[in-house]
Amino acid sequence: MANKLSLKIITPTRNMFEGEVDMVVMRTKSGDVGILHGHQPMVTILDYGVLTIKNDGEDKQAAVLGGFAEISSEGMSVLTDAAEWSNEIDVVRAEQAKERAEARLKTVQANIDVQRAELSLKRALVRLSLGGRK
Ligand code: ATP
Repeated sequence: MANKLSLKIITPTRNMFEGEVDMVVMRTKSGDVGILHGHQPMVTILDYGVLTIKNDGEDKQAAVLGGFAEISSEGMSVLTDAAEWSNEIDVVRAEQAKERAEARLKTVQANIDVQRAELSLKRALVRLSLGGRK
């Protein structure tokens, strides 16, 4: 379709999205980047963050927890280990993950993997930033 971007979002368990859209805003390691049809080819690593699909004046949002995006003349593909649409986010589960990670980070013990706890906290905060929204 003219001036539309072909987008695919793929996780290990499903083809989460496939379609033509106006624009994608994604959280890369160097900040939020907007992608339109005709963007130069690139591969970029995704940070944990909210991905927004803009199409026909509407926004659709998902929490995307890492992975990478490939942009080619064919379109854009996002490959990620974990992603949820905003209405799929289990807020209670994310709250519990946040509390677990915070408790681990408070108890400074030799057997605590600080980086793992920090990453878990960050995933929970991204989910909570989106999951409470209607
Ligand atoms: P938890 O500690 O609650 O398992 P996590 O951050 O370790 O959270 P991930 O490894 O990122 O979980 O994801 C594992 C799977 O569970 C993925 O399929 C992901 O989409 C799903 N998932 C994780 N947390 C939630 C949530 N709060 N709501 C909906 N799905 C979730």
